[in-house]
Amino acid sequence: MASRVIPVDPFDLVIFGGTGDLARRKILPGLFRRYCAGQMPAEARIIGAARSDMSNTEYRRLIGEALEEFGAADGKNQKDVTEFLQRIEYIAIDAMGKSGWKALAKALRKNVVHAFNFSVGPALFGPLAERLHENGIADTQSRIVVEKPFGHDLASAKELNATLAQYFDERQIYRIDHYLGKETVQNLMAVRFGNILFEPLWNAQYIDHVQITVAETVGVGGRGEYYDKSGAMRDMVQNHLMQLLCLTAMEPPAKFDPNAVRDEKLKVIRALRPVANGDLVRGQYSAGSDTPSYAEEAENPSSTTESFIAMKIDIENWRWNGTPFYLRTGKRMRARLSEIVVRFKEPPHSIFDEDAGSNANELTIRLQPNEGMDMMVTIKEPGPGGMRLVQVPLDMTFADVLGSDGSDVPDAYERLIMDVIRGNQTLFMRGDEVEAAWAWTDPIIEGWESRGDKPNLYEPGTAGPEEALMLMHKDGRRWRDLKP
Ligand code: NAP
Repeated sequence: MASRVIPVDPFDLVIFGGTGDLARRKILPGLFRRYCAGQMPAEARIIGAARSDMSNTEYRRLIGEALEEFGAADGKNQKDVTEFLQRIEYIAIDAMGKSGWKALAKALRKNVVHAFNFSVGPALFGPLAERLHENGIADTQSRIVVEKPFGHDLASAKELNATLAQYFDERQIYRIDHYLGKETVQNLMAVRFGNILFEPLWNAQYIDHVQITVAETVGVGGRGEYYDKSGAMRDMVQNHLMQLLCLTAMEPPAKFDPNAVRDEKLKVIRALRPVANGDLVRGQYSAGSDTPSYAEEAENPSSTTESFIAMKIDIENWRWNGTPFYLRTGKRMRARLSEIVVRFKEPPHSIFDEDAGSNANELTIRLQPNEGMDMMVTIKEPGPGGMRLVQVPLDMTFADVLGSDGSDVPDAYERLIMDVIRGNQTLFMRGDEVEAAWAWTDPIIEGWESRGDKPNLYEPGTAGPEEALMLMHKDGRRWRDLKP
């Protein structure tokens, strides 16, 4: 079943940081794929902007190379590449300076959507917003797209929001968390609220616990300097894992509408109980036989930054009282995997013999690899061996179920950029959500900093430190295996 493509309105999209890694690796290849899918109207135009002096031809060459390097152009779609590149222009602009702004103002057309992607470091968000305003380039209908990190803590997030709010309304600000653009994440909402089956069971009465895992096999690599000031809590939990938790735990919004959905997510964040010290494990990977340790990669021998974190979170509301959410994320782990596991309780009374086997259902929502869901259900083990129970998956790998190889399913960035043009903020974080997440995160970080806690070392290629396993064992539960 090929996905339905509805072209968006004509637009001028300006990518500040148009020569950078994010623009070359994600944004422009994503736009190219949408072009190939027929979603970009003929009048759509993209303007790359950065400080380097470059002609349109040089910039198009740079982007052509990026399309090849990052797998969007495969040699068979050269005609599409040529046509797509014709829609791209370049203007040299310094976000901190005065040059280039007049040329940009002149280049933008009237009566098309104007979107400005801030694909630059966060220190430039304020200056860019100010200059777009001062030069009369942005109006009340323009949109700006900002990338994480949205602050380093509550104070800096508030400052950033206040700076942007001087020039743009909240309805114009699109804060990207690319996890929200994933097909499965949206399907979580479709499955929860589009079926009668799940929602009546979606509470502490029927769900034993929820596990959210985002595991990576890579280390910090070249991002060591940035990451060492951030760590897994700021880099992953405060944003990506928090968003997954919110979508799993939120009450049904009255409508699938940006503010209705974001109001419900915000209520979840505000209901999070502060995490007790004993419910938190921090880890840092040690050296492997052929891989450097975290401290070596971060070039900081005495670093106490965590490359792994696991925690147990309680949500203080009627729906979830007594059902914990366990979160873990880390680098250099055994497998690259992102999933939400909803573990249901066992039936209140078993009519089968004690040795017939366990029969708790489990719903797994997989973000990667193989986006999809599976539900473990109990059936009778086939054959004449008496009533023995086994768990079998009802598998819904999207690519299989929808009869595609997955190539026509837009990746997160593609979908989110198209949502910006459509003016749909549902999958973007609102300023108050970001602040609430920091308000919950800050005291946890301050706690371990004031105690001078050091992370537990773990071997690369494992499921993190032993203490993380104990976090669940002490509650009589266990993490799902991290299978490569
Ligand atoms: P990058 O590779 O360092 O690129 C930065 C871009 O900004 C370059 O095009 C640079 O070009 C331009 N730039 C720097 N100073 C400028 C100025 N004063 N005026 C105008 N342009 C300027 O960084 P990146 O990895 O693309 O990341 C961009 C942003 O996205 C960062 O906030 C990052 O945290 C965030 N992000 C990145 C990723 C990723 O996968 N890369 C993922 C999530 C979020 P010139 O030097 O020519 O000006």
